[in-house]
Order: sequence, then structure tokens, then C-alpha cells
Amino acid sequence: MKNKILLNRIIAAAAVFILLFALSFTISYFSEKKNLQSAKPETDPQSADIDGNRKGGQDAQSLVPADPKDPSGTNTGEVVPVNQNPVANKVFDQPQKPAPQNKIIYLTFDDGPGAYTEQLLDILKENNAKATFFVTAIHDDYLDLITREAEEGHSVAVHSLTHEYATIYSSVEAFWKDFDAMNAIIREKTGSETLLMRFPGGSSNTVSKITPGIMTTLTKQMKEKGYYYFDWNVDSNDAGGANTPEEVFENCKRGVEDMRVSMILCHDIKEFTVKGMEKFVPWAIENGYTFLPLTTDDTSFNAHHTVNN
Ligand SMILES: [Zn+2]
Repeated sequence: MKNKILLNRIIAAAAVFILLFALSFTISYFSEKKNLQSAKPETDPQSADIDGNRKGGQDAQSLVPADPKDPSGTNTGEVVPVNQNPVANKVFDQPQKPAPQNKIIYLTFDDGPGAYTEQLLDILKENNAKATFFVTAIHDDYLDLITREAEEGHSVAVHSLTHEYATIYSSVEAFWKDFDAMNAIIREKTGSETLLMRFPGGSSNTVSKITPGIMTTLTKQMKEKGYYYFDWNVDSNDAGGANTPEEVFENCKRGVEDMRVSMILCHDIKEFTVKGMEKFVPWAIENGYTFLPLTTDDTSFNAHHTVNN
């Protein structure tokens, strides 16, 4: 009798155990199925970038803006196709795709590298945002940062060796001497020269009037020699009225909100500009903008200004 009661208890315990096992198996099966269904393909490149989940094998073609023939609703600058950029190709690691609404930002920094460039590169890296650096050799202690700029997928472009208007624009020969010397430094730091450039003062500058007509000659020669020059359609105003991170942020934010494709002028030699980027870059990503570096294998947006000399 005692044995029978014990046997019954063992059978009952075993039954409960089997029931629990079956129940937990059923629960885990359905929760796994649910997980599989919610794991949709990553459609937002920006969020993928933030998570560090880079998608391999993305080719250069996917970087072409969705509507390259009319990249900006407000800028009237002509758009020229550009060829291979050895610097950009060398380090091609660009996981970002253009945003569907063409909310594209070409973030550009002139006059560096300098004391705050490293900090800026860290901000860009954290946000996986790419930019273009129009470099000089003014701050020669920082020239090695040109290598890091290229290695991290940014475009390196010529601005000027000296940035001294009176020398650069004193003659066509003087201009090319300064330009070629800067490109030689870029070759030394990155392994190849660049075809991208921005004129000191922009193509519409009037500081060059010491030599009448020189900008007309130089913009023409630039194209003939196979180079591509870029101006801007958004000004952070960090060389003008802005001198706080908040002002730089507001100017950039207001500027890009008016554009489908923006080329923002900034200077990485200014601490407040770099601090402004700490806020602007994440803001832009959160609001659906895509940061792209200027390249020559893209149908590039050049934001050309009107030549005034
Ligand atoms: Zn400059």
C-alpha cells in the first residue's frame, strides 16, 4: 500500500515535470519565431552606422545622389561629372547611402589641419560621418593629420600651401606654384595627389583683383587640367559673425533645412566650430541627413559661385 502511494507520487511528479518541459519548449519556440519576424532587413543606413554594423560590399555607385542632375532645389551652380579621385578611392570605406529625400550634406573644412582637427576627426568617427578637408600647410605641426583624414574615409583636397592672398593671386604662375606644392604634400601624406580643390576666398573672391581677370583664367584652367573646384551653398559663418558653437550649429541647421543637397563651409582651425559639430553632426543624422565626402567618381555637386574677377 505504502509502495503504491509512493509510485503514484513519482508518476504524478514525472507528469508535472514533462508538462513543464513541454510548456517551456512551446514558449521558446514561439518567442524565437517572433524574433525572426521582427528582424527585418536594415533599411536605415544611419542607424546601422551608429550601431557599428557596417554592411560590406557597398559599391561607389550607391553613393550617387538619387537625382544627381538636380541635386539642389535652390542652388543654381552647374553640376559637372567628376572622374576618379585617387585619395578617396585609396581609403574607400563609405557605408552610408544617400537619404531617400536627397537630404545630402557635403561637410567641408578649410584652412586646416590645425589644433582642433584631431578632435573633429573623433567626432566624425563616432558618428560615422564623412567630410572633405581643403587643406593648407599653415600649421605644419599638424600636417600628419592629413594621413588620418584620408585613412578614415574623408576626402583630402587642395586649398593652398600658404593661403596668402597677395602671393597666390599675384599671378597665374604664382597660383599654380602654391597649388602644386600643396598637392605634393598631399601626395606625401596620402600616397596620391588629389583632383579636388577650393580656391582661397572661393571662386567669387574679389581679393584677387590685384591681378584683374585672374579668377576667370584660373577657373578655366582648373577645368582644362582635369581638376574640380568647389564653393559652398551653406555658410557656418565661422569666418564671419559666428563665434560660438551654438551659432555654428544654428547656421548649419538653418542652412541645410533649406537645401536638398548642402555644401557647408566650415574651418577646422576654430575650436568653436569643432564644438558646434559635436551637436550638428548627430542632429543631422537623427533628422535623416546623410554626410558624404566629395569624390571624383560621383556626379558631384560643386555649388559654384559666380566668378567676379
Ligand atoms: Zn581658406
